[in-house]
Amino acid sequence: MPQHQNRLDPLFDREGARNPLDVLKRIYGYPSFRGKQAAVVEQVVSGGDAVVLFPTGAGKSLCFQIPALCRDGVGIVVSPLIALMRDQVEALKQLGVNAAALNSSLSREEFLDIRRAMGNGTLDLLYVTPERIVTPGFRELIGGAKIALFAIDEAHCVSQWGHDFRPEYRELGKLAADYPGVPRMALTATADPHTRDDIIERLELTDAAVYTTSFDRPNIAYEIVERDQPRQQLLRFLSRHKGSSGIVYCLSRAKVEETADWLNDQGIYALPYHAGMERQKRDAHQDAFLKEEELCLVATVAFGMGIDKPNVRYVAHLDLPGSVEAYYQETGRAGRDGLPSEVWMAYGMADVIQRGRMIDEGNSANEIKRVERAKLNALLAICETPGCRRQAILAHFGEQHPGQCGNCDTCLKPVETWDGTDAAIKALAAIYRTGERFGAGHLIDVLTGNENEKTIRFGHVDMPVFGAGRDLPAKTWQSVYRQLLAAGLVSVDHNAFGALKLEPEARAVFKHEREVRFRKDRPTKGKAGKGASASAAKAKTALEQADHELFEALRAARLAIAKELAVPPYVVFPDTTLVAFATERPTSREALLGISGVGQSKLERYGAQFLAVIRAHER
Ligand code: ADP
Ligand code: ZN
Repeated sequence: MPQHQNRLDPLFDREGARNPLDVLKRIYGYPSFRGKQAAVVEQVVSGGDAVVLFPTGAGKSLCFQIPALCRDGVGIVVSPLIALMRDQVEALKQLGVNAAALNSSLSREEFLDIRRAMGNGTLDLLYVTPERIVTPGFRELIGGAKIALFAIDEAHCVSQWGHDFRPEYRELGKLAADYPGVPRMALTATADPHTRDDIIERLELTDAAVYTTSFDRPNIAYEIVERDQPRQQLLRFLSRHKGSSGIVYCLSRAKVEETADWLNDQGIYALPYHAGMERQKRDAHQDAFLKEEELCLVATVAFGMGIDKPNVRYVAHLDLPGSVEAYYQETGRAGRDGLPSEVWMAYGMADVIQRGRMIDEGNSANEIKRVERAKLNALLAICETPGCRRQAILAHFGEQHPGQCGNCDTCLKPVETWDGTDAAIKALAAIYRTGERFGAGHLIDVLTGNENEKTIRFGHVDMPVFGAGRDLPAKTWQSVYRQLLAAGLVSVDHNAFGALKLEPEARAVFKHEREVRFRKDRPTKGKAGKGASASAAKAKTALEQADHELFEALRAARLAIAKELAVPPYVVFPDTTLVAFATERPTSREALLGISGVGQSKLERYGAQFLAVIRAHER
């Protein structure tokens, strides 16, 4: 057996087959497959096609890496971002796997090396961009080499329904005819039915087995607050995450820059990232995010796809995303390693108006605009729910969750509700009486009896509805209008500068046929909410059992190794492995191998260094 000589030999059983579980244990150092990983691996090892729809962090990479190692030939991985291939290849090399990435910055020498390795069957995995794989040059490179499989990562890029549409992905359907008999896989963390159907159809995977799993991310704590003093609110949130890295999403490039500057002034190490930045700077910031242990990356949605940093401990949104799908994908970048992580969002009525305008002014077809509006409203409803956030989010993806998750703000600190039928009628009447031509700000002036230039000019001061809502503060009326929107009783007319209009359902409220309950907003000033600190406490427990001093020493050792190799620290070992080192304190090579994440190659490379740190901290 010429391939994988010194590394994989012990894995071959008498028939010369490579056993997936052995590969998992010896190379990755993991004791068992998770969830449906084993089923996917079996399907592909035996030559079948697969569509894998698992949430972020579920472990999709192993689903194609292990079959590639078990089957003869090289596994070809299609991945959309060149900048990130390098780290993936590096991570594989650390495991002793022979991987390479094909990109335009390769020297002639490197290219020839890859070609040689393919020719003599020693290359395990080759990462390629979608543009490149369909070129004649690629076919030539492949030559007569045997291909173990094609894995199309971030497969949702093939669909126009998603937000990451990449036309090049459409061409990948050709692989079916060009390379008959080679198993093909499509993998993504986006699983709405439209996208899934597109993937199956466009990538010609109608005969593939489809694997889905729960989209719940139990280690992520959700919190959504009303925006009041966004910067102070953000600062309070970030103060719970000292020493770790995370992402702060903003809608505009200008806001990204301003927020990053401001955070640095506040003593928080932050870097901006958006598509308007110079390429080199942008890549440098992305690289810093991957390699630094404590960095706040302030970004537009241009950042994130393909980032597989496992220890992103928080994601904050200063603006409302456009859909539940986008929100879930962006927040999903937290906690890939399964350790407790927190996501937080501040939003307000202005977001709803702005997002709605973006949809209206966009150049999508009317049918798509309608879908986009519905998606925005669904997110608003999640923001305004008095129930469990997780339950509401998963329900959006067609999944039932019993609620009471114990790890979202509404579960940790239940919100009160109030009978808002009278208030709703007044709020709706204000819209109706003023001719459905005004936005929430003006309507609230009318309700609270604010005599200003505009209410006088339009003669609204003389209406019976003027001042009819003096019993409640303006802030409560804002909340009322948001919730009426979320409930679909009113809508925003973006062609009329954000005027609120009545929806047919509002009629039942007017006629006292429908009761309305509102969520009571929490006070936003003062200390961080109890719910928040409870989840922050939860985030610490994993480490609290560990010896903190030892953990920090291990982290320092890891950082030193990573700096020397110029790789992200998690490529050396993930946090989960360091936590296990600190709690279990292995003191022999044998014991090290028993820790999840320590395979043969890493034992040889780093075992001695980490053992020395552990021994030096003996109790
Ligand atoms: P995805 O691509 O689905 O977001 P990854 O493949 O990046 O997820 O895996 C997330 C993390 O989980 C990685 O750190 C990976 O090494 C780890 N992991 C995956 N499968 C297993 C397993 N069977 N046992 C232990 N850890 C695993
Ligand atoms: Zn909950």
